[in-house]
Amino acid sequence: MLNVVIDRFRNAIEKRSVFTYAGSLNYWDMATGGSEKGMSFRAKLQGMLTGYSYEMLVNEQMEADLKFLEGKVDELDEVTRRMLVKTRKSYDDYSKIPKEEVEAFSKLQLEAEQVWEKAKDKADFSMFADYLKRLIEFQKKFVGYRGYEGHPYNTLLDDYEEGMTVDKLDEFFAELKTTIVPLVKAINESSVKVDDSFVRKSYSIEKQKELAEDVLNVIGYDFNAGMLKESVHPFSMGLNPNDVRITVNYHENEPLASFYAAAHEGGHGIYEQNVNTELMMTGLCEGASSGIHESQSRFYENVLCRSEAFWEYYYQRVQNLFPEILKDVSSQEYYKACNKVAPSFIRIEADELTYSLHIMIRYEIEKELFSGDIDVNELPALWNKKVKEYLGLDVPSDDLGILQDVHWSNALFGYFPTYALGNAYASQIAATINKEFSIDEKLRKGQCMEITKWLNDKIHNMGSMKKPDEILELVTGEGLNAKYYTDYLKEKFSSIYDLQK
Ligand code: ZN
Repeated sequence: MLNVVIDRFRNAIEKRSVFTYAGSLNYWDMATGGSEKGMSFRAKLQGMLTGYSYEMLVNEQMEADLKFLEGKVDELDEVTRRMLVKTRKSYDDYSKIPKEEVEAFSKLQLEAEQVWEKAKDKADFSMFADYLKRLIEFQKKFVGYRGYEGHPYNTLLDDYEEGMTVDKLDEFFAELKTTIVPLVKAINESSVKVDDSFVRKSYSIEKQKELAEDVLNVIGYDFNAGMLKESVHPFSMGLNPNDVRITVNYHENEPLASFYAAAHEGGHGIYEQNVNTELMMTGLCEGASSGIHESQSRFYENVLCRSEAFWEYYYQRVQNLFPEILKDVSSQEYYKACNKVAPSFIRIEADELTYSLHIMIRYEIEKELFSGDIDVNELPALWNKKVKEYLGLDVPSDDLGILQDVHWSNALFGYFPTYALGNAYASQIAATINKEFSIDEKLRKGQCMEITKWLNDKIHNMGSMKKPDEILELVTGEGLNAKYYTDYLKEKFSSIYDLQK
């Protein structure tokens, strides 16, 4: 009996992953140049796939099988046990919300994104305010159905970072604030100025492409198990470990943007390429959480490819590709240009140091949205006040402020914090590696693959068999500790800007 139920349960999950796979491929087409005329069918197909996938999950047989297997947990193998936990969570989340409300909500999401786009174009938050209000009301109601412990926002945080809570994040961001805000202020007042004029010149797109491919090879992205294409916004998509695709986009006057997008998406890609293939079709053959995923992309983008040691080794290649622009620029100067600190309005353009402050602003506002009665119309003023306080800037218009990111128009609340968590996890993981061998020494010798190998063995291989905090504990020997990240930032930027440590 037990084996029959296990087979049925695992078969249902396998079928669901077929729908997910088809949906992902369809999305890849939409984002990377599928035909214009095919657009509306692809959108319809996407909706149908989501519907079938829902039916595979929420039905009486599944409910009965989940209950049965939950009574036999001790007799299950490790993979089935983890599948059971994850499936139960999705099952409860989906089945507790009435279907009509799910449909009304997704309709509102589609409309809201279009309205947000227009509001952003006109830099007028008031056009979007009512939609945002309704999205928040929906989410609050859903949290009510789904239940929460401690704080309503915890349920949403848990969607992207299993086990994450407001208590943990309050402590985390408080520590970031005490380190980063004064550091940014000191840098603003420092007499050291970083020259980055040479990375704002015209760099041939063809050569940028060559460079993106080259750095991906250096860090260990496997082109035999993936591909690099172009899209408006860079992203990565893991279909299975043997087919993990990434995109980048290129601008003539922003060579660093494409380079770091390649390193970032490459990090996501390397993660998914190295998950144990035995987990395929179980729903576990993917990154463990948004935060752990982001820790890998940030690790490659920042910890490795924005380090002094990396540029000591790698700069020659860039200089050889662009001799006319870089003949008089040293690797040190190039390294500093890649790390110039300049507080800015837009999150996705932020430098490594100020990046997490943008996230902190979103976090503080989202938390309030779900705890109390904050009036949506007051959001722009609240946003601008926080930007002034943390980044020292006066926001001139809503498009450069509260309206800049698409997330809220899709009702993605609770997602932003994973970006900052990724940064912190990356530093904590780097500190662990450095106890075994020096990352810098490997980078100076061009032995990036050895670092990648370490990550493959310790993190990538297990996919989402474990929760993010379990992975962190297992790999680094402790839970989230922001100190590694703040120490890393202090050390790095005090040295670049010649500050007293
Ligand atoms: Zn990312």
